Amino acid sequence: MTIAAAALVLIALGASARWTWWRSSAPGMKVLCYHKVGTPPPGSKLKDLWVSPKKFRAQVKYLLDHGYTTLFFSDLKALRDAGQPLPEKSVLITFDDGYENNYTEAWPILRELGAKGNIFVVYNTIGKTNLWHNPASEPWVNMATLEQLKEMQASGVIEYGSHTMNHPHLSALKLDDAAWEMAESKRQLEAAFGREMCAFAYPYGDGAYAPAIRAKALEAGYTFDFSFKQGKTPWPWDRENRTIDRLFIRGRDNNWDLALQLSRGASRL
Ligand SMILES: [Zn+2]
Repeated sequence: MTIAAAALVLIALGASARWTWWRSSAPGMKVLCYHKVGTPPPGSKLKDLWVSPKKFRAQVKYLLDHGYTTLFFSDLKALRDAGQPLPEKSVLITFDDGYENNYTEAWPILRELGAKGNIFVVYNTIGKTNLWHNPASEPWVNMATLEQLKEMQASGVIEYGSHTMNHPHLSALKLDDAAWEMAESKRQLEAAFGREMCAFAYPYGDGAYAPAIRAKALEAGYTFDFSFKQGKTPWPWDRENRTIDRLFIRGRDNNWDLALQLSRGASRL
């Protein structure tokens, strides 16, 4: 073996140890999960929740260049109601929490490139800040205002789902209070946006695997509930028995990670 060939083998072994390209592809729903698009502020200890606008644009472009159709929650619901298969090359772009940078950074990119996005909104922090974070580890930044959210909806580029009233750890609440967080946010968001909220995401993923809490989410009338677990969920979806997993796009990820996430359900080990 030449030195060059040996070097290639070593590089391949190194990549095997870190990335998942050797796994077989996993079937199921491709639901990307983003939080903030922009540059992390000084003091942020959750930098991986920030994706730069440049990377975000490259990722959306990758999806469209590779023939993906982006879906709204309502598109997914229509497919489910009609008992139809999920198009192989379909993807949901979701954002958690409802940051102002979704309006200033992500929305213009989606609009320009012709892709759809979905945002899980925390009702009580609309127009405020991410009050649920400890500012010592994650500085407070602006959440989108109601006007900004309405403008994005009117553009036909963004749809909404609920992420509770206050972003609590649902399992730390009394069951009645957890149920209220889920049902009241659905009511308030539907009143604010004049359309059905068919999707819900558990803050921190907390409650997604607690049967009593999950029962309250379904009772509140959501068609879909999304976890905070890495992976792809088979379609048709076994709604009675599981929440929908997602593919987490981190700040350090590149398009190679994105491609592995879409096919394998994960990129790095
Ligand atoms: Zn959240």
